[in-house]
Amino acid sequence: MSKLALLGGNPVFERLLDWSEIWPPIDDPTSDRLMALYRSRRWTAFDETEADFSKSFAAHHDTKHGIFMINGTVTLQCALGAHGIGVGDEVIVPSLTWYATAMAAHYVGAKPVFVDVDRETLCIDPEKIEAAITERTKAIVPVHLYGSMADMDKIMAIARSHKLRVIEDCAHAHGGVWDGKRVGSIGDVGSFSFQQSKTMASAEGGICITNDADIAERIYRMKHIGYGPSELQGKAVSAPPADLLCYPFRATAFQAVILDEQLKTLDARLDRYRQAARYLEDRLSQSTQIRFQKPGRRAVKQGYFGWVMIFDHPSYSDLPLSAILEAMNAEGLQAMATWDPVYRFILFNLRSEHYRISQECSETERLVPRIAWLLHPILGLNGPDLERVADVIEKVVGDPEDLRKYAIRKAG
Ligand SMILES: *Cc1c(COP(=O)(O)O)cnc(C)c1O
Repeated sequence: MSKLALLGGNPVFERLLDWSEIWPPIDDPTSDRLMALYRSRRWTAFDETEADFSKSFAAHHDTKHGIFMINGTVTLQCALGAHGIGVGDEVIVPSLTWYATAMAAHYVGAKPVFVDVDRETLCIDPEKIEAAITERTKAIVPVHLYGSMADMDKIMAIARSHKLRVIEDCAHAHGGVWDGKRVGSIGDVGSFSFQQSKTMASAEGGICITNDADIAERIYRMKHIGYGPSELQGKAVSAPPADLLCYPFRATAFQAVILDEQLKTLDARLDRYRQAARYLEDRLSQSTQIRFQKPGRRAVKQGYFGWVMIFDHPSYSDLPLSAILEAMNAEGLQAMATWDPVYRFILFNLRSEHYRISQECSETERLVPRIAWLLHPILGLNGPDLERVADVIEKVVGDPEDLRKYAIRKAG
């Protein structure tokens, strides 16, 4: 085996493969449409550009209504608020997710309640949900983490028996399919993010999708200071429901144009990601002890926000994640740690009376320091580069003896 770049050897990639140099995609059709839009001066969210994209995205995900917004946090907030969830209520969220999932509950005045994740999918563990339910519980917000899918069959069954709403946080799962249904179409509302790193990206953006016309109208009013979907600005003809909190959460037509073009190639891109993940997992299962995040029991096609490696095999137990990440980055591969459990995440600043940890989140606590992941654009690399990604991982942990010595020396 060749010497690790970390120890002065030659790196597999000559320089760090920075995802922001290859993502988001840029192309001529989008560029032409953006310039035409710019020249038209019709930049606001009220034009057909936004309505067309919202409809296409919703239809692509097996739903009738799409409400496009400025980000994928306020979409969660509006999905909860539109169902009348607020002060005094509790909302069940996974303990491992981007902290926005929990903050959205707080934004409507409700209390996020953290439930541990499943060791295979890293999504909320349905077996641990019932213990978290109280008479105050109003909703469950499963997250399809990194594109793997939370067990929607079990979650929907629990929700039905306790009369709870289900808001799917699909910020990582654009285009995924669970048992013949697209993500976001199974719960009451699906919420997606189009932030720059996501699988569809327009710097900022988000959308709610639903089949419920009444909820769709409420969400629309919430994002457009109370106006109904067909009302012109300055010409309201109907009032929003009493006490529905409405905001200016409108995005722009520029974002809608970019996303409209990306939607056309989403499924082809996901197929490519899926093939790349299969290649990496098949090869690395032979040569390393890494475990890979499972797509979910009935995931037919998963989405990909990231590709996740789990280093919890006993042979890696004395190998700190920081050393693994440092070694991979030195070889030119941008591997990252996952987030801390939400209730310990640095930006999550709620006082303890504003949230609840249902039970000890032992799997989350155990797994977080053992997870490394690659952002999805890496899965879009061409064949030779993808082989080099696998080369890096094999070089670093195929025989981890050198790295182990390095870690011990560093700690000493
Ligand atoms: C990105 C993300 C969101 C929404 O983030 P925005 O930046 O507000 O679009 C929500 N949930 C999860 C799990 C996310 O990763």
